Amino acid sequence: MPELPEVEVVRAGLERHVVGARIRGVEVLHPRPVRRDPGGPEGFAAALVGRRIDGARRRGKYLWLPLDDGSALLAHLGMSGQMLVQPPDAPAERHLRVRLPLEGSAEGRELRFVDQRMFGGLSVSPGGAHLPPEIAHIARDPLDPAFDDADVVARVRRRSSGVKRLLLDQGLISGVGNIYADESLWRAGIHGERGGDRLTATQVRLLLGHVRAVMSEALAQGGTSFDALYVNVNGESGYFDRALHAYGQEGRPCARCGTPIRRVAFMNRSSFFCPRCQPVPRRRRAAVARPPGTRPGDVRPD
Ligand SMILES: [Zn+2]
Repeated sequence: MPELPEVEVVRAGLERHVVGARIRGVEVLHPRPVRRDPGGPEGFAAALVGRRIDGARRRGKYLWLPLDDGSALLAHLGMSGQMLVQPPDAPAERHLRVRLPLEGSAEGRELRFVDQRMFGGLSVSPGGAHLPPEIAHIARDPLDPAFDDADVVARVRRRSSGVKRLLLDQGLISGVGNIYADESLWRAGIHGERGGDRLTATQVRLLLGHVRAVMSEALAQGGTSFDALYVNVNGESGYFDRALHAYGQEGRPCARCGTPIRRVAFMNRSSFFCPRCQPVPRRRRAAVARPPGTRPGDVRPD
């Protein structure tokens, strides 16, 4: 699944290659990717033909292209979506779903939406040029220049949920996937089950700094292969192979202390952590081993 840095790479590529272009036509090859558009494939196409693309923006993992009539083309890559900018005579990709031939500044190019599993999609958002209402509830992400660290630190510290769950809460911070959460928590030396209200402001600030650093490193890696016309996301950035310390590393020695990395089930997926650098929070242990008649906060030496 494309994580936020890959989506940002796609956004930057679209900004470079399609802004200023006009949409000359729209060809929907499969209805599923435009299922969220109330106008259906015909309405979707009619709303786009002739429009000029004025920008390429992002909120979390959503992308949108503001159009010259105040609407926007909204895109989500889902599990396997790709946005490609290709010459129109390039052979059709196996899972090509929507084609948008361009004219003007991107003459001779075509914007293509390719998606094998089709969890992603495109839709037209009327009036959505500034911020599509469909995604206005999504919080900013740590790479967004307007992300407010102090506000997020305060909100995390008001919640008793485990901090990993909070990192994945799109209403609080958007775009942090499982991989980035595990890597950031490992760097910060914090167990994901620690309650937000059990962390100091300094710890949360440092954790956010690690989230931003991990994402920026991935972005820098993804960006290096992005100079060509080809705008792509494949969900398998080279970053994941080289730089992971926790995620997917079960049984391998922790790079800091040598203790084998452990894996536990988490929300139908997995969490990876170093049991020594990221100790399991005391109150969770207490909840398991607590003698009758004591309360969770009561910690007594054996
Ligand atoms: Zn360790």
